[in-house]
Amino acid sequence: MSFARLSTAAPGDVRLLNGEHLLLGGTPPGWPGRPVRPAPFYKRRYTWDGDIILGCAIGCRFCYYLWINNTAHTIGTGKKGLVRICEPEEAVAFLEQSRLFLRNIDPLTLCARSDGSMQIEEIAAFLKAFPHRNLVFILHRGYFGPRQLEAWGHDPRAIYCTTITPAPPEVNQEDWTPIHPGRQLEGLRFLLQNGIPPERISVMCGPFNSRNVEAGVLLIKRLGEMGIKFATYRGCSIGSFGVEPDREHLSSSGFLDGSQDERAAPEGHEYYRMKNFLHPDVEEKLLRAGEQAGVRLYRNTGLLYQKEFGIPVAFNRNNRWRRELGQWERVSTEELDQFLRSLGYHPISIRETEEGYLVELPEPEVATEDVAMTVGARFRTSVLFNRHRIAPSLADLHFYAANRLFWPLPDGWEEAVGLALSLAG
Ligand code: SF4
Repeated sequence: MSFARLSTAAPGDVRLLNGEHLLLGGTPPGWPGRPVRPAPFYKRRYTWDGDIILGCAIGCRFCYYLWINNTAHTIGTGKKGLVRICEPEEAVAFLEQSRLFLRNIDPLTLCARSDGSMQIEEIAAFLKAFPHRNLVFILHRGYFGPRQLEAWGHDPRAIYCTTITPAPPEVNQEDWTPIHPGRQLEGLRFLLQNGIPPERISVMCGPFNSRNVEAGVLLIKRLGEMGIKFATYRGCSIGSFGVEPDREHLSSSGFLDGSQDERAAPEGHEYYRMKNFLHPDVEEKLLRAGEQAGVRLYRNTGLLYQKEFGIPVAFNRNNRWRRELGQWERVSTEELDQFLRSLGYHPISIRETEEGYLVELPEPEVATEDVAMTVGARFRTSVLFNRHRIAPSLADLHFYAANRLFWPLPDGWEEAVGLALSLAG
């Protein structure tokens, strides 16, 4: 479905637009069939993104889960909006049984569709049940303090992650997010003073535009002063997956600053209307601030994981070689072939190109980005496909299930896929 059609979707839209959409949020409110829960982990990009609880009581006004028809009701609606997806042990079992998951290698992101501040004990239980050495990035916008230190501090796999968003000085902080950057910095200082090394703290700064970039420059300076060694920075994103964004608020609060390219999103992506857009002048100011503060700044999380955490990453992204990650490695095409066959594919050929290894798949086989990034990371190279999709279609979930790429899929998924396809006509 084209973006143009998506963006006309009415509020209360119950359509499911692809397989990832179903795994991400389950069936939307008002679904005419049996409700289906989201999957514990719903996508594999540089990390496996998952949650034990879906939803977030914080309610940032730019949160992109507000623009997705099966998550909008879980954001900023207080505790009643929180939906338990599974028990922590079930999330562990999901990874153990999913054939795409690489034990002791793949990083995990917990609280990808939620916030860690609302599930401290659940995350501790996940860490206790998870027996492998994979790093676990815990997304947590709320303020860090003794509870988080006690719950996860002893586990070197746990990485404390937070996003800090200063609003432009002329608008209320609450018009962007109710979480105050000053108190977030106090929380980070608390962790550092209590033995959490800066290597276990991953800060994302942003989103930024011309209105809040000076506040961003100050933030980066503060991070450097307190001993933070690296951070990522972000531009603004807007999506629409069945829910129309509140453009009026986004403009009046300065999130849309009038100078952004609101069509800057990767091609073929159904969800993003504008993705991580940063004006070059804004980016330049942030990078200069990083240099002055001694904070290594990354725009791209793949590079962050590779350089700061030593994690093997795929050199391919969106079916292209991502050059900033460096030269891809030469690998054995026989081993590549065998690995793909173990995932249920039947490659016709694999040949080396300037961009990496190009795999030719027979119809109807398609490699999704979940698969492409797993294969790229497994071989630490760039692997491209003649037939590729950024996200699994609804029908692709049958392939996922048959080959247990993600497993087990939520109860009732097959029925929901059948109904979603018939509703789509
Ligand atoms: S803290 Fe994160 S998940 Fe929660 S509302 Fe803000 S952006 Fe969304």
